[in-house]
Amino acid sequence: MIAFETIPFILSVFCIILFGYYMIPAGLSYLYFYVIRRDQWKPRHIQKRYPQTKSVLREIKWSFSTVLIITLITCIALFSIQEGKTQVYFSIVEYGWYYLFFSILLYIGLHDTYFYWIHRLLHFKPVFRWVHKTHHLSHTPTPFASLSYNPLEAFLQFGINLILIFIIPLHPVAIGILLTHNILLNTGGHTGFEVMPRCFFHHWFFKYSLTTTHHDMHHTKLNCNYGLYFNIWDRIMGTNHREYEKTFMEVSSEAPDPGKCLTYAGK
Ligand SMILES: [Zn+2]
Ligand SMILES: [Zn+2]
Repeated sequence: MIAFETIPFILSVFCIILFGYYMIPAGLSYLYFYVIRRDQWKPRHIQKRYPQTKSVLREIKWSFSTVLIITLITCIALFSIQEGKTQVYFSIVEYGWYYLFFSILLYIGLHDTYFYWIHRLLHFKPVFRWVHKTHHLSHTPTPFASLSYNPLEAFLQFGINLILIFIIPLHPVAIGILLTHNILLNTGGHTGFEVMPRCFFHHWFFKYSLTTTHHDMHHTKLNCNYGLYFNIWDRIMGTNHREYEKTFMEVSSEAPDPGKCLTYAGK
């Protein structure tokens, strides 16, 4: 049993770890796309304009507030796990390796569905103004916008994880993979640069995955392109922006650095 006096220490440690989990991928991709390889990736810059420094600092400030909320959620989750109240299990043989992979896919599918519908609700006018507007202050998002949420939205976005560990049996390995998958894709969606080759758009499999262009357009056009991981609910509900394909094709038509980088199909 964890002693009450150690709680502030535990909270601080989790806070630092989670902030690092946000800051390292965001900082590295910002450094790569906006500083070191800025000119090389210019042809694939979706908006062709760069954010102001104060906008980047605002994204970091709100993301830090989200990290505090994720820390709180993580601590509630850990206490619940310690009390044996959740479905978290520690021996892989208990459910087997197939289940481990299945649980990851199931969780991603459920999270994608939850995100799409909660995101639609967040764009309902009165809710948008009070809850989701903070995220949309980033008209030219950078990787630092990945956790830039108002505290109430942070609870809505990450509280679902707390609920799901009471419902779906999950191994800590699966939780680690899911957390990493979430932060990497979320950071990637806010880089402002399209890294996918043109052929992805009509590929039988990859056409269902989202691109940075898709989410970047969500920040500029607002009421469209709501998805998180997959372009499935947006297709079903007809909420892909009508110019999504055109914009993606335009921005992905140039290789970032001809002759040095990957050969992009369609070129
Ligand atoms: Zn939105
Ligand atoms: Zn966003």
